[in-house]
Amino acid sequence: MAQTPSPWLSLDDALAFSLSNVSPLDETVSLPVASSLGFVLADDLISPVNVPPADNSAMDGYAVYASDTQSPSPLTVVAEQFAGMSRPDKKQEKGTAIRIMTGALIPPGADSVVMQENTVRDATQVVIAKPALVGENIRRSGADIEMGSTVITKGTALNAAHLVLLHSMGISHVTVTRPLKVGILATGDELVEPGNTLSSGQIYESNRIGTRALLAQLPVTITDYGIVADDKKALSDILTKASKEQDLLISSGGVSVGDADFVKELVAQLGEINFWKVAIKPGKPFAFGKLSSTVFCGLPGNPVSAFVTAQQLVLPIIRRMAGIATQHNTTTLTLTARLQQDIKRRKGRQEFLRARMYQDSDQQWCVAPLSKQSSGVMTSITNANCYLVLPAEVSEVKAGDTVLVQPLRLNDHWAGQ
Ligand code: AMP
Ligand code: MG
Repeated sequence: MAQTPSPWLSLDDALAFSLSNVSPLDETVSLPVASSLGFVLADDLISPVNVPPADNSAMDGYAVYASDTQSPSPLTVVAEQFAGMSRPDKKQEKGTAIRIMTGALIPPGADSVVMQENTVRDATQVVIAKPALVGENIRRSGADIEMGSTVITKGTALNAAHLVLLHSMGISHVTVTRPLKVGILATGDELVEPGNTLSSGQIYESNRIGTRALLAQLPVTITDYGIVADDKKALSDILTKASKEQDLLISSGGVSVGDADFVKELVAQLGEINFWKVAIKPGKPFAFGKLSSTVFCGLPGNPVSAFVTAQQLVLPIIRRMAGIATQHNTTTLTLTARLQQDIKRRKGRQEFLRARMYQDSDQQWCVAPLSKQSSGVMTSITNANCYLVLPAEVSEVKAGDTVLVQPLRLNDHWAGQ
């Protein structure tokens, strides 16, 4: 473990510290490609084949010798070549054309395919209207993927396009990093599962579902430890149990300075807490540590703070532990937009204002913060389509200034305009 940094950390430092203090899993599993979406490739993937496997036609048309088409004279149509047929043994004769469909193998000899739209056909002959070029409309063997080439690198999280690529190479199974075991729990005497009636002083627990949904696309298996009371014995039992079962434990609540905030104290006793104050708004209390070899992330209790810190800190930690290579470990897309109103604020924390971005009539991205910004107001996130990100040291920005925005991508779909 590296040296523990000072208690108040910038988001960048908190992230850098966390990422350098967690390791990628080194256990792998073989999965059918059909079940591998979101999993992380454990080794470079080398193509066992050429794609396409043989020269074939990119068009419905006629396979010809380009030299026969330089002046518009009729060519006799001598055969038909459909997709799925093997390559004819016999060399195509000069002065002839073979009717060919998209995906059909190029007959030996032919060096060009003329698209049907550029031809005039009668029962036995075809006239080529425009001179053909050598190689035109022929998809060459290996043009997409060459046998022996590295097609997907180790540490890539497989997306829909990768799965298409794998199947196009005839690959049915891939070796990926095994799923990360993640435990989640919520702490607080006031918390009640939705579906029940609230008594005085109680509120519904809503952080676990947010964490779970934010992890839905990642290669994780989630164990839900439920709601745990603000009780040292109950908490310490669950922390001990989870540390034996999970690679990562994510709790919410109990990491601030209240008299019932036992979580970070217990984690420090049972393991270690490396930091618990991050200069981020919403957020601030976010605890990072270890319970033996289990990584611990303690989210703040406020749902907005829990959501933002899960996105900004926990997701990159999970992606690293799940084996995603550093160059792919970007969970946020940061763009610039023109601010629509003045903002004054207290400096000191990097702020993620919930905001709406839109394009004006010149296609310029503009952004305006929402009026409600409390860390208890979850509608500030559901009504937003981006975060307006203000650096810690900035106390004032003016209408017309260029500011940073992070489009909100909930479940991989931008929340839209
Ligand atoms: P804490 O960090 O435990 O002091 O909680 C801060 C605030 O967030 C309090 O108002 C809690 O009632 C609320 N809170 C904590 N955990 C949750 C949760 N899982 N779901 C909804 N609200 C919560
Ligand atoms: Mg609490």
